[in-house]
Amino acid sequence: MTHRVAIVGAGPSGFYAADGLLRARPDLRIDLIDRLPTPFGLVRAGVAPDHQGTKVIVRQFEKLLAQPDVRFVGNVEIGRDLTWEELRADYDAVIVAIGMVLDKKLGVPGEDLPFVWGSWRFVGWLNGHPDFRQGPDLAKVRKVAVIGNGNVALDVARVLAKSADEMAKSDIVPEAEAAIAAAPLRDIYVIGRRGPEQAAFTNNELGEMGRLGRAVALVDADALKVEAPASDPTPERLRKAKNLELLRGFSANKPGSKPVSLHFLFNAAPKAFGEGSVELTTGKLAADLVITCIGYTGEDYPKGEGVFPVGWAKRGPTGTIPANRAESHAVAEQVLAWLGKRDPKSGTDPMPLSIDFAGWHRIDKAEVAAGKPLGRPRVKLTDWQALLDVAQSD
Ligand SMILES: Cc1cc2nc3c(=O)[nH]c(=O)nc-3n(C[C@H](O)[C@H](O)[C@H](O)COP(=O)(O)OP(=O)(O)OC[C@H]3O[C@@H](n4cnc5c(N)ncnc54)[C@H](O)[C@@H]3O)c2cc1C
Repeated sequence: MTHRVAIVGAGPSGFYAADGLLRARPDLRIDLIDRLPTPFGLVRAGVAPDHQGTKVIVRQFEKLLAQPDVRFVGNVEIGRDLTWEELRADYDAVIVAIGMVLDKKLGVPGEDLPFVWGSWRFVGWLNGHPDFRQGPDLAKVRKVAVIGNGNVALDVARVLAKSADEMAKSDIVPEAEAAIAAAPLRDIYVIGRRGPEQAAFTNNELGEMGRLGRAVALVDADALKVEAPASDPTPERLRKAKNLELLRGFSANKPGSKPVSLHFLFNAAPKAFGEGSVELTTGKLAADLVITCIGYTGEDYPKGEGVFPVGWAKRGPTGTIPANRAESHAVAEQVLAWLGKRDPKSGTDPMPLSIDFAGWHRIDKAEVAAGKPLGRPRVKLTDWQALLDVAQSD
């Protein structure tokens, strides 16, 4: 008999935790449980559809799923299909890798108006998350305000700004692609409440905004009379200095030189939303659609003995995919120490096996096959029932 570990959440931190456990204890039996019929968390549902290189990491995760004592258990939501208590009773340890699943609120009037979208919903729609099949109506959207100064804000602005040709090799869902291509978009504003020297953009992602086919990046040179804070640690200072250099390049661009203008506005905090406008601390801005990219919050899970949080569920919504690896491995060490002090439980297998690794492979195969004639990596299945039907077909 051997120990059995449940990892709730088949995103990067869950996979890295499984990897850490198996390096020391290849005999362990691990269930990687996800409420979705598909694995990989935000690598599939968050990372921008035109950044396919970032998604290559799933090949490593697939190798873990192929190991005989690792099971993918898709379409099982803990807290709904099985309680956290049942899980704790049946497994020798439970790793909580559920990420963060709710949009953070700005807490300003008008935030619940229908033209204000959180990035979780919006990005979920672009990426084919089955909970978010309905996107915003873009048919009359000329001006979009993207609130936030992190990479998610750049992802959202970039995917809106890119031409159909520039998205041709992506796996954006066809409905979203068609809606964006048909929208009469003219102006996209990326709005930060602080100065450009404080923006959280990474250099590569910001640099990409200066190389878009149908959109010109613009910024007022007066906003750039600042320096990267000398008190910051060197890597941060260098990142910020490079961002300022890139923005100074944008400030020399000619407005109107491309069909879409991509404006960077700084030191402008949203105070309220009214139908068709955003009230900023710097004045009123007309906008037909607002997308807030200001971070996420999570759902609660039970704390206590034998329960080990990891990844975004533990640290909050910051950090890239690789940043989860070291932490997940450290948590795996704690789990191994915990298991080392206990005999394996002798319970029955409590897990309803709705979609396993073979089921996910059927989905994967169908999606890749649908993408092939279009020269795309895949065309995602976005409907819950369609995902279940394909996974359970034989
Ligand atoms: C929009 C966006 C774009 C990003 N782009 C990049 C990028 O380009 N490059 C990069 O390195 N990083 C990027 N990141 C960050 C990266 O996605 C995270 O670092 C990483 O996904 C966090 O991993 P995680 O496993 O903690 O959470 P997640 O990836 O969110 O995985 C959590 C999983 O848990 C499942 N789950 C939740 N609740 C339950 C439950 N009750 N029962 C069962 N399953 C459950 C979810 O379905 C999900 O699959 C991006 C993040 C976002 C939001």
